[in-house]
Amino acid sequence: MAGTGKFFVGGNWKCNGSKESITKLVSDLNSATLEPDVDVVVAPPFVYLDMVKNSLTDRIEISAQNSWISKGGAFTGEISVEQLKDIGCKWVILGHSERRHVIGETDQFIGKKAAYALNQGLGVIACIGELLEEREAGKTFDVCFKQLKAYADAIPSWDAVVIAYEPVWAIGTGKVATPQQAQEVHVACRDWLKKNVSPEVASKTRIIYGGSVNGSNCAELAKQEDIDGFLVGGASLKGPEFAIIVNSVT
Ligand code: PGA
Repeated sequence: MAGTGKFFVGGNWKCNGSKESITKLVSDLNSATLEPDVDVVVAPPFVYLDMVKNSLTDRIEISAQNSWISKGGAFTGEISVEQLKDIGCKWVILGHSERRHVIGETDQFIGKKAAYALNQGLGVIACIGELLEEREAGKTFDVCFKQLKAYADAIPSWDAVVIAYEPVWAIGTGKVATPQQAQEVHVACRDWLKKNVSPEVASKTRIIYGGSVNGSNCAELAKQEDIDGFLVGGASLKGPEFAIIVNSVT
């Protein structure tokens, strides 16, 4: 732990689940024993958000996987920050690589969404991360810094931001970054914040790692000084395994 907040573990359920499987997952999470000193958040698909909010223990907060860029209105298919707050959602994941690279969201668009969500009082899990070819070309830091800058240029404050470093080549591939690879990028991002935002923000902001985290590799990653938690995809769909990851805090 380097950030002065608590260890933070988010479960990103992505576009997975049905009423039946999500009811089972919620019941497993409700009966899991979770370390008290860890912030735990899950992000169900939009259509199940309200159902999960109403059945999940208050110990775990709810996150959306996306939000709209401004107040709601005539924006077919979008979900507003106001609506998310209305159903008790506390967080939103923005800038996920699947939205950047599959949907085509730009740094600037993501920055605007983050600013709007923060201004309305939602916490933001702000994702960054490089593609495999960018890593192989030695551009990992450049890509992460450019994505961080787009957030920094847009947002009013870092108080309710958790940065999720998720190398794209590690997401859903089973190819986790080594603890050293993750630590190296986390330190570089913290240093970027120190130089470009403030030393205070650099020391306080939690930087969590995502990309093929599971019950077997979480403990080694959690030992790294600058890994302040995890954003978990596939392994967050299994309650007992997600609990192991939450409890990996050292
Ligand atoms: P994964 O996904 O754990 O399935 O690799 C992580 C994420 O995309 O947040």
